Amino acid sequence: MSESLIADGQVVIMQYTLRGDDGTVLDESTPDDPMAYLHGAENIVPGLEKALEGKGIGFKGKITVSPEDGYGEREDDEPDAIPRAAFPPEMEIEPGMTFMAEGPNNEHAPIWVIGVEGDKIIVDSQHPLAGKTLHFEVEVLGIRPASQDELAHGHPHGADGHDHHH
Ligand code: ZN
Repeated sequence: MSESLIADGQVVIMQYTLRGDDGTVLDESTPDDPMAYLHGAENIVPGLEKALEGKGIGFKGKITVSPEDGYGEREDDEPDAIPRAAFPPEMEIEPGMTFMAEGPNNEHAPIWVIGVEGDKIIVDSQHPLAGKTLHFEVEVLGIRPASQDELAHGHPHGADGHDHHH
């Protein structure tokens, strides 16, 4: 078995825990459901992707990512309130959800729901983790070449590549 190393076009399967500066767990994978991402396709924040380049199966380590290599610096943007009616009626809107909003020049940009107040949905144009230093603890469990479909989609289809979707 040849040693595969993390490089563009490889699907990487890993366990990770993401903590904030104060040690609070912000996000993590579970043993039953490790995370899979396609290297070189911006599936994960740039600082983490860069740090994993060239690592092999079994790599275990702590990786600290600054805001600029993470979800960006936080700008002093006030959250916006958008009428509930602007969202799909059948959908239950909850904090943490992401939508694509259309800007003044028809550009599409993601917005994050941070609260619901009566018939107003409070949204932020920045990722909730913008401005935060990210402390990752990762363990690389597997590396495999991406399939043609995965390369075309720009994301992996599950850890084994057999998830069917859209
Ligand atoms: Zn896909």
